[in-house]
Amino acid sequence: MNTRIDATAILTDARQVAQALREVPLAARVKELRRLLAKLRDQREEVIDRIVAETGKSRTDALVSEVMGTLDYLHWLAGAAPGALCEQRVSTPLALFGKKSRIWHEPLGVVLVITPWNYPLHIALTTIATAFVAGNAVLLKPSEHTPLAGLFEELVADLPWLSQALTVVQGDGSCAQALIEARPDKICFTGSTRTGRRILAQAAPLLIPVELELGGKDAMLVFDDVDLGRTTAGALWGALTNGGQSCTAVERLYVQRGIYDEMVSRLRSGIDALVVNSGDEGDADIGAMTTGFQCDIVERHLDDARAKGAVVHGGGRVSGTHMLRPALVTGMTDDMLLMQEETFGPVLPVLPFTDEADAIRLANNSRFGLSASVWSKDLTRARRVAAALNAGAVSINNVMLTEGNPALPFGGVGESGYGRTKGVQGLLGMTRSKAVLIDKQSRKIEANWFPYTRRKYQLFGELVRGLFGHGLGALIRFARAGITLENTAQKPRQPEDK
Ligand code: NAD
Repeated sequence: MNTRIDATAILTDARQVAQALREVPLAARVKELRRLLAKLRDQREEVIDRIVAETGKSRTDALVSEVMGTLDYLHWLAGAAPGALCEQRVSTPLALFGKKSRIWHEPLGVVLVITPWNYPLHIALTTIATAFVAGNAVLLKPSEHTPLAGLFEELVADLPWLSQALTVVQGDGSCAQALIEARPDKICFTGSTRTGRRILAQAAPLLIPVELELGGKDAMLVFDDVDLGRTTAGALWGALTNGGQSCTAVERLYVQRGIYDEMVSRLRSGIDALVVNSGDEGDADIGAMTTGFQCDIVERHLDDARAKGAVVHGGGRVSGTHMLRPALVTGMTDDMLLMQEETFGPVLPVLPFTDEADAIRLANNSRFGLSASVWSKDLTRARRVAAALNAGAVSINNVMLTEGNPALPFGGVGESGYGRTKGVQGLLGMTRSKAVLIDKQSRKIEANWFPYTRRKYQLFGELVRGLFGHGLGALIRFARAGITLENTAQKPRQPEDK
């Protein structure tokens, strides 16, 4: 699809809306978020039909991760925005006595949101809502593989401000490139590391700030004191939910040697019991892959692993469809694609580790660092390991759960990108902090203004000694120097001050 768009005109219109939005009170924007939430809640079955039709994912994945996750986020955002975006008071140092310091969280202007195909509703709507509540106009460029054409416009149709603030621009990567060239005030990109690099390169000379939510190769670390039933169920879900097409899917499962064989055997039975189907009524565990090219990538990774000596249990394509049966893989070596690149499909590679240091070393042996999980009864150990992991998020005794709490920031390290969406950090990322210092109107001349004199220099020296010294003596020195300085500053330069 090579859509021709007039990006300059789109940006000009969006800028006008952004300007108008500056006059819209935060309470009115929050009210629209609550109405959006209600509309999505009430129309969820139609929305799920659309998502399933375009992605092939299982109905439960569409309900829980896409719709429920979005509702949860909107609910949190509507509650948190007034506190996070209001004028913030910060302390003023003693040397600026009598003045007030404030931070205003102002909108950026026009935010360009570029989204992938794996969670086409959730990623788009949560980012749009965050940018909007912060006062921005939003341009959404959804994935050409899951355009959900007309759906976003329909969801916001009754909302006077959000319907104006949001412009959906359909098209492929070239369309996003044209929008970047027209200079939005920020780019929020979620997608592959390869595309993230291109966007950053295009944005750099234009000095456009970019937030990058990229790929992952998440590790799950299982110590030998866990409940095996629960942990096995968690591993299967963490690796295979949404058919493994999640940036935070478990792509490497490391199990402590003492329980490794038992866990592999349980995983094998667990994988065999999973139901693969598309167009289900809520009773399939794994749906279809969204795109044919992603099926090919998954099959290439499995073929490469087999050729290099790994053992693949399960796997294979349901003929004539985009459905892949889940696969459990053992006997991996570092040179396999499965260990180096993001697979993004229903595949669970399992490897053994010996001790805590080994687990940390293996988990950190990746250029990605999105999220991870640590499983152990010993919470002190689990926290120690979590602290040592190079990842933007860690769930302890659960999997992919940090993103289940909208109050927590989301984002990666290394080639998983940078910047944070969600949480107060994500919300403030849609704003520009304006520093404001308020003084009274008076005749007072500040001590540090001209004229500079030898007397004032000496008094400032005293002030510094007092201000950064210790004890009562220092405080008295500071007060004395401060008062004398204030008095001196009100007088013109004296002949002896030359
Ligand atoms: P992708 O990078 O191919 O495409 C993502 C978006 O970028 C699409 O809208 C596409 O049209 C656009 N695009 C393509 N080329 C572009 C260019 N040169 N300039 C600007 N935009 C361009 O990614 P995808 O295949 O749609 O999504 C899968 C990837 O997304 C996986 O790597 C996955 O891990 C990642 N992902 C990350 C997160 C996260 O939050 N970290 C969440 C979901 C998915």
